[in-house]
Amino acid sequence: MSNLTKNSLIVIIGLYGLGLTNLSNSAVLVKEKRWHNHSTLNVVFLNGEPALHSKVKMLAPLWLEGTSLKFSFFDSLDTAPEDTHIRISFTSHNGSRLGAHGEYKSSFATMNLADVMSQDISERSIQRIILHEFGHALGLEHEYRNINWPYGQHIIEKFTEECIPRMRQIGHDPEVAEQRCHDINQSISKKLALTTAYDERSIMNYPASFALDNGMNKTIEATHTLSILDKHAIKRWYPKSP
Ligand SMILES: [Zn+2]
Repeated sequence: MSNLTKNSLIVIIGLYGLGLTNLSNSAVLVKEKRWHNHSTLNVVFLNGEPALHSKVKMLAPLWLEGTSLKFSFFDSLDTAPEDTHIRISFTSHNGSRLGAHGEYKSSFATMNLADVMSQDISERSIQRIILHEFGHALGLEHEYRNINWPYGQHIIEKFTEECIPRMRQIGHDPEVAEQRCHDINQSISKKLALTTAYDERSIMNYPASFALDNGMNKTIEATHTLSILDKHAIKRWYPKSP
């Protein structure tokens, strides 16, 4: 969940922290949110114009190349099967339920893509939002929650603080917003997630600019395509052969 389109940052990208000996385990996939291998996920649009549906239908499957998963798209709940796994609304905010959430017979949105409706949004930003939120829908967490995040706790605290007003905006009380922002921003232990290396180029990273302990400024740029390691990781976690 984020206001991903509002950060347009210029940066020197470094491949900091890449565990080049263990490429296939980069990114952060929450174990208990992993879909069953070989699943077909029913994706339904709760609203939105056909042109927007087409964009999602074109972009989301980029995650599935070389994996065992399939998406089956439906333009409304009326035409969808009883079980729907990803339910998309182009309203409210940007965000997605994480992976296999368990509520498949409901009709509430599990993914919101509000910013793609903005008048002045670029095609690149639309692509980033859709790919990023589908990463969450496949069980991937934000890359800065990687236990191997190399830039220190203070920037995580900054992300947590920035999260609170957004959480308030979608209706949470102050204490709930604070707790929830704390929970969804701290690093995830290796017990809970499949992860080792930190991937600066992951679509699941947040754009940010901050000072390092040595006084240098560090910028993480918003990316608009799946990284090599994003593709590696998702193939590894949803392999074609069992
Ligand atoms: Zn996100």
